[in-house]
Amino acid sequence: MDCIFCQIVAGEVPSDIVYQDEEVVAFRDINPVAPTHLLIIPKRHIPSLAHLSETELPIIGHMVKVANQLAREGGVAESGYRLVINCGEQGGQLVPHLHMHLLGGRRLSGGLG
Ligand code: 5GP
Ligand code: ZN
Repeated sequence: MDCIFCQIVAGEVPSDIVYQDEEVVAFRDINPVAPTHLLIIPKRHIPSLAHLSETELPIIGHMVKVANQLAREGGVAESGYRLVINCGEQGGQLVPHLHMHLLGGRRLSGGLG
């Protein structure tokens, strides 16, 4: 498997993991664009939102729950934060393993692309 995020899940590639459970792993983005920039990913390889099956939909709720918890722990829950999932080439997805960005710690731009 040459998926970089699967390699992070397997511990084959080092990362700064801040949370994990049976379903998901959260770690610091290697190239942060905000003071808080975490990635929340399913352990199972799902290429993108567009590949999510009906039975896999609950993983999104779980990722949001973990992101909200990490936002509280990271001290950005009050000031505000943004959760982003890019999908596909024109959606800005570079890593083909489903992931949610948690961004916070500064005023984010109002633009949506
Ligand atoms: P995308 O553009 O696919 O939504 O976001 C991919 C994100 O993964 C980028 O913000 C990028 O900095 C991050 N990233 C890519 N490779 C690695 C890596 O090996 N380790 C970590 N921690 N983050 C990575
Ligand atoms: Zn993967």
